[in-house]
Amino acid sequence: MNIHIKWILRAISLVILVVPICSGLLIYGGNLSALVMPEKTDFLKDTPQVEWIGYQASTHKLEFKFSNPWKMAIMFNSMSADVYCKDHNVLIGAINLPNPVTVQPKFSQKISLVITFSSTAQSHFINYHFGAGASAELRNMEFTVQGVKLTSNQPMDIGTIIYP
Ligand SMILES: [Zn+2]
Repeated sequence: MNIHIKWILRAISLVILVVPICSGLLIYGGNLSALVMPEKTDFLKDTPQVEWIGYQASTHKLEFKFSNPWKMAIMFNSMSADVYCKDHNVLIGAINLPNPVTVQPKFSQKISLVITFSSTAQSHFINYHFGAGASAELRNMEFTVQGVKLTSNQPMDIGTIIYP
């Protein structure tokens, strides 16, 4: 695989999965050898940004904005993850990317992931979160970028989820 593509994929995966909950230092903490490769430093100056937009209960969508700083388009073929209630460690659903998304070079784009609630989610919300939301996180995240499948066991906090 082309070394630049590899680096791009690694940067994307780290940014998506780690930025919302960790500092910049932690992001690259496991990849110090990658940092010192001179041909890769251009990518470090322009790292992708992921901005959390929020959860739209009416449409069951988790939305965030992805900013592509590079001169190449980035295609997200698929994304999926399990959604867990943090308070009770209970699976409440799963998210999926309904359609592939291409973010054009030097462009920012909203990416929407759709939640499908599990069969037991309704009773869990009624019994434990009635009239309020549940603090949720994503687990077992899988996504395919530029045709390459990436996975992470790093949980990602997504704030409060309300059962529609
Ligand atoms: Zn709960």
